[in-house]
Amino acid sequence: MPTEPYDIVIIGTGAGGGTIAHALSDSSARILLLERGDFVPQEDENWNPEAVWKQRRYQSAERWLDDRGEEFRPYTHYNVGGNTKFWGSVLYRLRREDFQAMEHMEGVSPAWPIDYATLAPYYERAERLYHVHGELGTDPTEPARGAFPHPPIPHADGMATIVEQLRRQGLHPSPLPLGIRDGCVLCNTCNSFACKVHAKSESDVCCVRPALERPNVTLWTNAYATRLITNAAGDTVVAVEVERNGDTLRVESSVFIVSCGAVNSAALLLRSACDTHPAGLANSSGLVGRRYMAHLATMMQGFHPFRKNATVFQKTVAINDFYFRGPDTTYPLGQIQSQGRTHGVMAQTVVPQVPLSWYEWWVARGVDWLAMSEDLPSRDNRVTVDRDGRIHLTYRPNNLKAHRMLVKETRRILRRLGFWVVMTHSHGRKNTTHQCGTIVFGVDPRESVLDPYCRAHDVANLFVVDASFFPSSAAVNPALTIAAQALRVADHIKDTNL
Ligand SMILES: Cc1cc2nc3c(=O)[nH]c(=O)nc-3n(C[C@H](O)[C@H](O)[C@H](O)COP(=O)(O)OP(=O)(O)OC[C@H]3O[C@@H](n4cnc5c(N)ncnc54)[C@H](O)[C@@H]3O)c2cc1C
Ligand code: SF4
Repeated sequence: MPTEPYDIVIIGTGAGGGTIAHALSDSSARILLLERGDFVPQEDENWNPEAVWKQRRYQSAERWLDDRGEEFRPYTHYNVGGNTKFWGSVLYRLRREDFQAMEHMEGVSPAWPIDYATLAPYYERAERLYHVHGELGTDPTEPARGAFPHPPIPHADGMATIVEQLRRQGLHPSPLPLGIRDGCVLCNTCNSFACKVHAKSESDVCCVRPALERPNVTLWTNAYATRLITNAAGDTVVAVEVERNGDTLRVESSVFIVSCGAVNSAALLLRSACDTHPAGLANSSGLVGRRYMAHLATMMQGFHPFRKNATVFQKTVAINDFYFRGPDTTYPLGQIQSQGRTHGVMAQTVVPQVPLSWYEWWVARGVDWLAMSEDLPSRDNRVTVDRDGRIHLTYRPNNLKAHRMLVKETRRILRRLGFWVVMTHSHGRKNTTHQCGTIVFGVDPRESVLDPYCRAHDVANLFVVDASFFPSSAAVNPALTIAAQALRVADHIKDTNL
């Protein structure tokens, strides 16, 4: 069933799609946003650990297959705002060095086709759009930059004490850059929860809703893009096929922006294989779906039996001392961040046999951290789709030695802080939270799928604007970089009158 034609169709409303929709909304272009999910309702369950972690109320029910053919339920969310709705809102710029090739313990992190200076003005805009709070001059790895739009979120008393103790260990703790809006009550249900009072800076409230106030922007929710259709020559996308309310619709447009997240964007291009693109749309390089990265992430909790943790909002501290080199190695190890408070129900999802009361007692005495390292792009780590269109994810984490050293060092730091026991947990091969890299950008069409403005080398009116374009994963949270590049691509689209 054909619909009215649009100038720009954006598929997905997360960090990439929502941000670029907002940036393009002040143009005269007729813009259609397609989102497979719906709005997340504002309801008590938003902040209910049982609903979020036990019933998994907001998590996608989809099942993917791993490299052994085993089904798993990916930790991802299909709704307006995408995963930003549930993110921790830690909004980092990549370090200047992350844009250059960097030697790691198990290989090289490749250079980006743009440098930090190119993205810096867009980082600044993205930080304003997402209300980032932070402090200039305390992070030893910080790239050249101006002041943050907002002052840092103050540490709670317990965290302030820990920061002092970290300094006494010779470390350089710095405030985490956080995207938070007026009305935030600094609760203990932020990361992995939707904000019931809409005070978290995420794509739904910062970008999509404001964009929808413009008459030229339309949003279809529950609209699943199944495939992109090209002209006979294969050099232009003419339409997207959409499943909505039981109908299959054909939407035509001049420009198509794919922003489905790194796994789903690759899957959409692969599902769009046709006579002129037999290996998948825009896939003459063979790289669509390859080079999947997700960060090496280990959750860590320091526990002390006689020290109750009174902190409510805990996620304010970063330790970047080992970002470029470890204490016992010249190679980069990664970043350490304090995390939101673990709830008993959350902990119970790891080992359900242990009674909840026991977990509650334990987490009341724990302080939570995340150790995060860069994983390196590998052609073998990839997204594929089978004949039924189902997603297969093959991911063998690499650079593990460096990550183990970071975890060991974090453990040492926590022991020095007086914690008796340090617990660790990782999603390993099923890690999808910081997924990126499956549709890489670059200058050489043989070595990349997109050009430096995220336009497909093979298809003139096709852009991919989400975490897919990352040539390397760096070791800071990815989303501010996705948003900054989305703003840059929007300017490019406007400048070139596409
Ligand atoms: C719990 C959690 C905490 C996180 N914390 C942080 C953090 O603190 N800092 C940070 O930088 N990052 C964080 N992240 C990661 C961050 O959320 C992602 O990097 C970011 O949202 C990715 O943006 P994206 O545009 O690539 O994809 P997404 O935000 O995932 O958006 C993709 C959108 O596309 C839609 N979609 C998918 N397929 C289709 C289709 N075929 N048709 C129509 N629509 C489709 C989805 O429903 C979704 O809305 C976190 C992630 C999670 C899950
Ligand atoms: S900490 Fe603030 S932004 Fe986060 S969920 Fe609570 S009120 Fe919302």
